[in-house]
Amino acid sequence: MESSFSSSQIRASFPANRSCRKKDFGRKFPGFFNVKAASKLSKQRRPQNIEGEFYVDERCIDCDTCRWMAPQVFKRIDEQAAVYKQPLHGEERRKALQALLSCPTSSIHTESPPYDIQEVQRTFPIPIDGKKLPGVYYCGYHSEKSFGATSYLIVHPEGNIMVDSPRYTEHLAKRIEMLGGARYMFLTHRDDVADHAKWSRRLRCDRILHSLEVQIDTADVEMKLDGDGPWTVGPDFEIICTPGHTEGSSCLFYKPMKTLFTGDHIAARSDKSFSIFEMYNCDSVITQLDNVQKLLELDFLWILPGHGRRAEFKDTNEKNSALIHFLADKGHF
Ligand SMILES: [Zn+2]
Repeated sequence: MESSFSSSQIRASFPANRSCRKKDFGRKFPGFFNVKAASKLSKQRRPQNIEGEFYVDERCIDCDTCRWMAPQVFKRIDEQAAVYKQPLHGEERRKALQALLSCPTSSIHTESPPYDIQEVQRTFPIPIDGKKLPGVYYCGYHSEKSFGATSYLIVHPEGNIMVDSPRYTEHLAKRIEMLGGARYMFLTHRDDVADHAKWSRRLRCDRILHSLEVQIDTADVEMKLDGDGPWTVGPDFEIICTPGHTEGSSCLFYKPMKTLFTGDHIAARSDKSFSIFEMYNCDSVITQLDNVQKLLELDFLWILPGHGRRAEFKDTNEKNSALIHFLADKGHF
């Protein structure tokens, strides 16, 4: 795969690790969480769970993962997840167990060990949409270190790409290896790097991160992007610089699949509106909105975000009018 990265000198010192979410915001906004509060809580069953086999414990950080993975089973009750309907069998149970494995704080439990857990482990990574997005997978296994962020795997004939870092597990590593491993790990920004070093060692993939996002624990990433791009990775991928959430936040545009991996630049909400996570902004909301406007020029139909919900549009017009509507709502168009 041809790449056109600009090289950067490793600076003598890097900023200490800091993120946009290690703040005591409380649980005001589903999809994010309060690390400080989570660490103090117990693994006890929340009373808000319906009686039965599956339950969520008190350590739930309200990251929203289980609710979009298995919406028939999990709901937000009193600012945390809870089981509101026990999964019966088949797909419902499989999705509930996929959520159990993906929960960043391992807050989902069953009363007895699930007999089919190994079978469910083998379902990862999970195709996003086998027909519309062949070769695009959701990795699951969210990490508390990346605030529960979602990561992806793109299987591509010229080398697979991981987008952001899942929690490191050998089960997932073996499955990814069976799909051809990874040549690159694209990191959208500093918050969602989780176990990047373990993945890079295990899969021998080169990590790509904007130099403005590099911190002590990412000082040795193989490819540091300088400037404002765009950068191409072979003929099918473009890295788009979209600062605002953080100074060097970037998106990966998979052109043939019309898919944009957005990190925390923009995501859908459960009600289909958009969010740019203002309360977790680390750089400039105005700059972020400017860079949301920039997305009008890109021909994509899918948003696959780090936090928040996915979005799919039926055509460019629908995508652009949704973005314009969002920008107008923010007084930015
Ligand atoms: Zn972030």
